[in-house]
Amino acid sequence: TEEGQEATVKTTCPYCGVGCGVLANVAADGNVTVKGDPDHPANFGRLCSKGSALAETLSLSDRLLYPQIGDKQASWDQALDLIASKFAATIEEHGPDSVAFYVSGQILTEDYYVANKLMKGYIGSANIDTNSRLCMASSVAGHRRAFGSDTVPGTYEDLELADLIVLVGSNLAWCHPVIFQRIEAAKRENPALRVVVVDPRRTATCELADLHLALKPDTDVALFNGLLSFLSDVDGLDRSFIDQHTHGFEAALAEAGPLDMAKVAEQTGLSVRDLATFYTMVARTEKTVTVYSQGVNQSVVGTDKVNAIINTHLATGRIGRAGMGPFSITGQPNAMGGREVGGLANMLAAHMAIENPEHRQLVQDFWQSPKMARRQGLKAVDMFGAVRDGRIKAIWIMATNPVDSLPAADEVALALKHCPFVVVSDVSTEVDTLPYAHVSLPAAAWGEKNGTVTNSERRISRQRRFLDLPGEARADWRALCEVAKRMGFAEGFNYAGVDEVFAEHAALSAHQNDGTRDFDIGAFADIGQQDYDDLTPVQWPARAGEPKRDSRFFAGGGFFTKDRKANFVAVETTAPARRQRAYPFVLNTGRIRDQWHTMTRTAKTARLSSHIAEPFAEIHPEDAAAIGLGDAELVEVKSPHGRVVVRALVSEKAQKGSVFVPMHWTDQFASKGRVDAVVSPDTDLFSGQPGSKFTPVALMPV
Ligand code: SF4
Repeated sequence: TEEGQEATVKTTCPYCGVGCGVLANVAADGNVTVKGDPDHPANFGRLCSKGSALAETLSLSDRLLYPQIGDKQASWDQALDLIASKFAATIEEHGPDSVAFYVSGQILTEDYYVANKLMKGYIGSANIDTNSRLCMASSVAGHRRAFGSDTVPGTYEDLELADLIVLVGSNLAWCHPVIFQRIEAAKRENPALRVVVVDPRRTATCELADLHLALKPDTDVALFNGLLSFLSDVDGLDRSFIDQHTHGFEAALAEAGPLDMAKVAEQTGLSVRDLATFYTMVARTEKTVTVYSQGVNQSVVGTDKVNAIINTHLATGRIGRAGMGPFSITGQPNAMGGREVGGLANMLAAHMAIENPEHRQLVQDFWQSPKMARRQGLKAVDMFGAVRDGRIKAIWIMATNPVDSLPAADEVALALKHCPFVVVSDVSTEVDTLPYAHVSLPAAAWGEKNGTVTNSERRISRQRRFLDLPGEARADWRALCEVAKRMGFAEGFNYAGVDEVFAEHAALSAHQNDGTRDFDIGAFADIGQQDYDDLTPVQWPARAGEPKRDSRFFAGGGFFTKDRKANFVAVETTAPARRQRAYPFVLNTGRIRDQWHTMTRTAKTARLSSHIAEPFAEIHPEDAAAIGLGDAELVEVKSPHGRVVVRALVSEKAQKGSVFVPMHWTDQFASKGRVDAVVSPDTDLFSGQPGSKFTPVALMPV
């Protein structure tokens, strides 16, 4: 903006995966206000409490403003030289897999693209993973097993066109509030629309539910396998879709077994009556969307849960048509963009597969890079395990706070304490990971950086800069390019501007892509700076030379497997992990309405902090009575990995035997509540995602 002149800039909210458009107004005196962008197709002007408080989070208090080496301020040149020389020396001595990047669904697609290119194409390792591993990796794995690609078939509009919305493991009212508002509005418009909430807790989302299925934790596969059998029994299948467009139906049905409602009731803890109501609703309602989120993904059987849900949509042919489909809603603002550039240890770039030699060659040829990672790298939990046991000797952590947010977080802290070289790029000084950094780099924050993000419905939107960079803050992609150049890779990292990074990413998505790969934004391969600056929100695919097509996938088949058919996955109904006598409760962690991640931004506003002022443990009255715990008293929540002490919130909303603790509080706040110290690091076999909603714990009044 011109100095001293008022300006309004269209940008995108940096919090959840809804990806709402924001109008940021900078007054002549520099004062910033925000409101929802009425033209953005994700929110049409709406914002939630967090989005509408964005302007209150822009102060420079607690900002990391200068590079530091140890606890001494340094110049960027000194910091970058040190990072490049340490990484190069470590690779020289111990090989490419001795280094790692741990990045974030908070960074922009262009940052992600450059990080992934440097690690996979130039260092030659796939040791780049992201905190999105904690968020939606099970959906990625489930999509790839079923569709041959990581494709979200539907759009937000489907929620308004549906007659039945099934929300599984999703407290939409607090975690994706603008989608919740859209469903509320749709329900007012269409009284026939029914909403079913599948969640062990009675959350705020249940206010909208016609039926709440408070199933036992981690029994979703039993619920959806039962639904598949029911649909078969009541002639609720689309045989023509199954025959023409899928494989493996009979095996999936056989694994689900003959319908035994009493058994499903016993497995899930639901009544036969509620099961029959739910199954009948689904069987009778063609326009059904099943929305799922972290209650599905954050599980050691998360991928199987995803496929159990997708199986029911493939069996009914309810996919890719208006008002129908399975719909994974991502937690973070750019989890989807990270997936698109391959910023996960088990993906390549542009949704290509690292295990596919042709894809590896294609990407290497396109990058003209000296190397190419040949196998999957270490996923988040294993990555920090490798830091702990010394296999990884240098790690660069970007825009995430693993000492607070990874499971078994005390062990993560210990691993970093003994790691020979740790780099942390962040905007805040208030992150518990920062004290472990040998070099810390001041990153550009929301409002100070330029780039793109992709929301849950595959819509790419611009985040635009409207503030000057404070202190010596820099965009992450620039820091990465500078390190790459110092490591001798100048030819691959000479971008004049962020628009050139985006254009290269778009060109790669279209390179030798004859429509057999889902992710294609080739229409932007030649984008110049002006068009990039003016980019309006766009859903992919956006193929060069093609008119805008229906933005849904798979209505007529056309999956991204070799023969273009989808796969049913035969998913076994397994009993949830056993609770041991010493740890008889199940810990469930999650978000609250008005805080974001580890609160480095949202805690800056008193308005947001007034919603819930301190961490808590939500526990059922009978459980509280059994252990002699009164409401508002302090309780210790303990597992074999760690402990946390928080205030008890005795409530019938909790399921007996379960306890819910929010994930946001850290050691930075007066009310400490670093719950991830308690969470088990057990992960899903296919996705590597931790089961953050199922840790056996003990509860003890303090
Ligand atoms: Fe931001 Fe999500 Fe709220 Fe939209 S719903 S304003 S993207 S936090």
